[in-house]
Order: sequence, then structure tokens, then C-alpha cells
Amino acid sequence: MERQGNISISSENMMPIIKKWLYSEKDIFLREIVANASDAITKLKKLVSMGEAKDEGAYRITVTTDDKQHTLTVEDNGIGMTEEEVEKYITRIAFSGAADFLEKYEKAGGDGIIGHFGLGFYSAYMVSERIEIFTRSYQEGATGVHWESDGESTYTIGDCDKPTRGTKIVMHLAKGEYEFAKESTVRGLLEKYCSFMPYEIYLDPKGNEEDKPVNTSLPLYAKQPKDCTDEEYKTFYRDTFHDYNEPLFWIHLNMEYPFRLQGILYFPKVRKKVELERGQVKLYCNQVYVADNIKEVIPEFLMLLNGVIDCPDIPLNVSRSFLQNDKQVQKIAGHIVKKVADKLNALYKNDREKYEACWPDLATFVKFGAIKDDAFYKKISSIIIYKNLQGEYRPLESYFGEEPKEEERENAEPQTAYYVSDVDKQAQYISMFREAGLDAILCDTYIDPHFISYVEYKNPYRVRFMRIDADVAGAIKEEAGEEPEIVAIFEEFLKERGMKVKTERLKNAAVPAIINVAEFTRRMSEMNSFYDMGQSPEDVTLVVNTACESVQALKGAGEDEKKTAAEYIYLMALMNYRPLKPEELERFTAVSTMLIGKYLKTM
Ligand code: ADP
Repeated sequence: MERQGNISISSENMMPIIKKWLYSEKDIFLREIVANASDAITKLKKLVSMGEAKDEGAYRITVTTDDKQHTLTVEDNGIGMTEEEVEKYITRIAFSGAADFLEKYEKAGGDGIIGHFGLGFYSAYMVSERIEIFTRSYQEGATGVHWESDGESTYTIGDCDKPTRGTKIVMHLAKGEYEFAKESTVRGLLEKYCSFMPYEIYLDPKGNEEDKPVNTSLPLYAKQPKDCTDEEYKTFYRDTFHDYNEPLFWIHLNMEYPFRLQGILYFPKVRKKVELERGQVKLYCNQVYVADNIKEVIPEFLMLLNGVIDCPDIPLNVSRSFLQNDKQVQKIAGHIVKKVADKLNALYKNDREKYEACWPDLATFVKFGAIKDDAFYKKISSIIIYKNLQGEYRPLESYFGEEPKEEERENAEPQTAYYVSDVDKQAQYISMFREAGLDAILCDTYIDPHFISYVEYKNPYRVRFMRIDADVAGAIKEEAGEEPEIVAIFEEFLKERGMKVKTERLKNAAVPAIINVAEFTRRMSEMNSFYDMGQSPEDVTLVVNTACESVQALKGAGEDEKKTAAEYIYLMALMNYRPLKPEELERFTAVSTMLIGKYLKTM
């Protein structure tokens, strides 16, 4: 006999609000309904293990679509419900649960409730005009129960024939939502939300041996690391992230205490060097998909990786700002960071060759992480490596000086570490450095300028970086190179060009002049153009080499010759620093031609 009832809480107003808020993510209803089915099986298994229910085996969830009737059905063979339980859990709890959810959502100011856990059964009304439940409890002698409601204010409940234990939820889709009765749509959603749910899920099974579950009920990350092979890790990576490049390596997280955490983080191959490719870290809760890239749980820089993380202990039906301040969540994030640092350190220590081979793909991630997360920087600062002028990797810290004692800090001079940012443009300096046996590091990724500034800031007494052309390093020059007479020859026309001049006695006598660009103003200018604020003036100096014979010859020359030769020396130095502008190039060609003519006449 069917009887009718009124839904006690006022739910008429709930649906429009829920629909409006959750519109963009309404497809989560399927996850909620399938997760309920999965929970129902877990509950039954628990009773079986305690000897309180009969084990009939073959636990499974079946999802059926009916494109003609516009229905979507989810059926499980779990614990089932008696009539009283339907009244209590569905009519009262599910509806009041949704009301609670709304209240929380409002309190959070619409600040995104993580994964929207908590809306549960009721979320199916986002797409249905009517829902029927057919259920039979596991209890001995239980009979079938049929419940039906449009989700607004009334429902009917009564007996029905249900030969099997478990629950069947039939969603009669509302107009405009018929796509959820299409097999392809539903398959996509099951793959997104239910890939790792712990019981087999079948979609529109035919009842023959071709039926295959759409999910993996024991995903690789939930196994013990010692039971997983490299091949399995790679396959899991490919299947989950659809990246056909092999990952460089991975970290299998598996802990029980002080919180539960499982997952695998993969370091992907980065192909584009200029841009950070965003990775994808999928968050799960007990094998149920929550969301991607939740930065409150997984530190932002780790999102350059690909991975899956399952944290059953995270309170997921709370707002994001709550998560941000949650101690437990911070601990989880800290733990993940530590594991990543440990893995990198172990690789550095145990397999340097592989570490160096992976470094070009890792460098940006590690440097970005160091800038973003101080704790991470501390853990990996000693394994950050750079190539030197010989093309060998050396730890960056090997270029640092000792940390001075507290009382000596004031007078401490940080060690200067020279770097090359462009091998071609700085070739002149590189060869002088090589001849003098000096070292420099190669900084050629776009994050390096930011990173070295950060390292200086963190180690103010130990290191200062200078681009190789920022000054004249002591080792490439002799003492006492100053010659005011030569300075005077250049001074005037360089002033017009906004450039300073000085003389030095370089060890390499073949180079008449080089250009210095002061480190500080250059960095300022680079930062400005990075942030699109235009370029600021740089402090540029022409360094004339008094060890060079041609420079010395200037002294005895006539006024006109002096001028032309000085300009020529300037243009040559300029060419080594940047491409000449058209008018400079024209001038260079004219002077060169004139000089060749004169040279040939003297033969
Ligand atoms: P929640 O799952 O968060 O408790 P729901 O609104 O999704 O909230 O469900 C309310 C209750 O209804 C569940 O706690 C459960 O007791 C019952 N229920 C829902 N679906 C099923 C099912 N497939 N089998 C058995 N019980 C169910």
C-alpha cells in the first residue's frame, strides 16, 4: 500500500538556489549517487565480516541509461534500506543534509566548497524532475520498498517487489538534462569521478563476458609500493594523464600515521623550456574524485607535477578558506613537500648521472619551488646544480663563501659568482675567463634571474651574483691600467651616447675594448621589462684595454685619426655586446672600407 507524506523541512525554495550555485558543476550528482552505492556495499561487507549478514559475493554497481525514457539508473547490491530507513535517511536526513549544505555554502560566501561533498543524494534533483528508489534491506525477511518524490514537498512510499538485496535509484531526467541519459556522456562522467572507486562499476552491461567495468577498483596508488613494478607505474601514468612521454621518475606516497595519505606524484618531461607547463594533481577522498589542483592541500609549485593524492582525512565539505587555515591540511602539504625533497636528494646521492640527465626537465620546477616554499628551499639548496664554462654540473653552493660569524657580518664581503646568460653575446668575456682559469655558471632559463636574486636574498653574506660582463674581474686584468690620456680621447663622443669610459690593462692584449653593464641597473631594467613597465636606463661603460697595441698607438696619432680610430674601437666593442643598429652598421662599414683602402695603399 502506498502512502503519502510531506517533507518536513521547507525544500521548495532549495532547488532554485542549488541549481544556480552549482550549475557549472551539476554533473557531480553522479559521483554522489555512485558514492552512496559504493558506501552501501562497504557497509554490507562490514556486516558480513562481523557475521551479521550473508555473503553473496560479486559486489558491483550497475549504471543504466535509457535514452528513450530519459532515465538514468544506478543500482547496487549493498546493504539496502527498510521502509523506516528510507523515511529516516532519505526523507529526513538527505533533505536536511542538503539544507545544512546550503547554510554552510552561504556562510562561506560562495567561496567554493571543496568538491561539494555533503549535498549527497539530493544533488540528483539538479538534473531530475522525479526520483524513484527501489530498495530491499539485507535483513532476513525484508521486503521491497518503493519511494518516489519530485524533491519539492511531497513523497510517496510503499511496498514493491524487489527480488534482490540492495538499492536502485531511478532518475527521471528533467527537460534540458536528457544528455545524462546518453551512454557516452555518462561514461565520460564515470571516468572522471569514479575511475578509482573500490567496487566494479558496469555501464549498460549486456550480460555477457564482454562486459568490462569502467573503473579500476584497486588503483595502483592504493597498493603497497613494494608490490608495484616500473611498468605498472608507467602504464598508470599514461592511462591517468594521457601523456605518452614517459615520466622521469615518481614518488609513491603511502602513510597511515599521523594521517592517512596515499598517492603517486610523477615528474613529467618538460618539453617547452620557456613556459612552465601546468601539471595536474588530482585529489581523491577514499577513491572518490574530488577536484584537480586544490592549492590549499597541495602546494602550488607541486602542481607542475602530475599526480593523484588520496586524503581520506581532509574535511572536504568545508570552504576553501577554512582548509587554508586547517593545521591538519598544512601538515599534509608539508609532508608531501618533504617527500618530494627526499626523493630528489636520494636521486642526487645515489644516481648522480640520472639526476644530471633529468636536471634540464627538473630545474625550473625545483627553482620555482625554492622561491615559493622556504622549507623546500632549505631541503634542496645543496643539490641545485649549474653548468660551468667547462660544461660540467657543479652545485651552486660550491660558489658560495662561508657564512660569517654573527659579529663579523658587518664587514663580510660575499663571494662573487659570475654567470653567463647568453653564450653568444658574452663570448668575448667567456674566452677571457677561460684563459684566466676563471669559472662562471650558465644561467639560461627564464627563471634564473629571479632565482639568483632569491638566492642572494637568502644568503646575503655568502654570495653575490654578477653577470660575466658586469665588471672586469680581477683575474683577467693586470694592476694599474689607468691612462687618463686615453680616457680623454673617448670621453666626449661616448657622453653623447650615454656611455661611460674607463681604461684597464687586460691580460688579453688582442682585445681593444669591451663593454661593461653594471649588474644592478641591468637587473632593474630586466625586471621592468618583465613586468611590462618599459626599460629603465642601464649603466654602461666602455672599458678600453691599455694592453692593446692599437690603443697605445692612439696617443701619437693626429686629431682626426684619433677620433675615427676611437669610434671604430667603440663600434667593435659594441658589436660584441649587441647587434648594431642600421646607422651604426653603416658607419662601421664606411670606416672599415676606408681603413682597408689605407692599409692596401701602404703595402
Ligand atoms: P550522505 O551520503 O552524505 O550521508 P546522502 O544524502 O547522500 O548523504 O544520503 C543519505 C543517506 O541515505 C545515507 O547516509 C545512507 O544511509 C542512505 N543511502 C543513500 N543511498 C543509499 C544506497 N544506495 N544504499 C543504502 N543507503 C543509501
